[in-house]
Amino acid sequence: MNLVLVSSCLLGQPVRYNGTDQQTDHADILAQWTREGRIIPFCPEVAVGFPTPRPPAEIVGTGQSPQVHRQGKDVLDGAARIIEKSGRDVTELYLEAAEKTVALAMQRGCSHAVLTDGSPSCGSSFIYDGTFSGIRISGMGTTATALRDAGIYVWSQTQIAELDAKLRACTESDPV
Ligand code: SF4
Repeated sequence: MNLVLVSSCLLGQPVRYNGTDQQTDHADILAQWTREGRIIPFCPEVAVGFPTPRPPAEIVGTGQSPQVHRQGKDVLDGAARIIEKSGRDVTELYLEAAEKTVALAMQRGCSHAVLTDGSPSCGSSFIYDGTFSGIRISGMGTTATALRDAGIYVWSQTQIAELDAKLRACTESDPV
């Protein structure tokens, strides 16, 4: 069976920075996956000791071009930082969170991950632009990028039905 690592906040756990969970239109599918024993729930940020609630954090550029929009890949490459709204640099914790998530996914044999979009950790199609003004940009967070780089298929919560169809279509001998 293909196991799926899923952001804890998508499973009703109130672990987002603001102390809420993340609603999804596909809770029925997640419930079915849970019954099948398919889900590995995980929150990268909680795993490295961030409290809930916690200040929002965004990816920001460094050096001569701090205004240039940066992504999780840039953080992993050392070309960007992750900063809380208060100004605290939390880059190292985010890197540790990404590392822990990849280690868990590999250890449990997860072939897919469904992550909450928009997060500087879990975002897979969009993140925020580093100005704390609610402006979205295309891009991925640090954990999502690290998982993808490790060969794991990363999906957002809007793609759960699409992934479910793929999982149903595949056989154990021909995993997707
Ligand atoms: Fe945790 Fe990711 Fe959900 Fe943020 S988006 S609360 S890091 S699981």
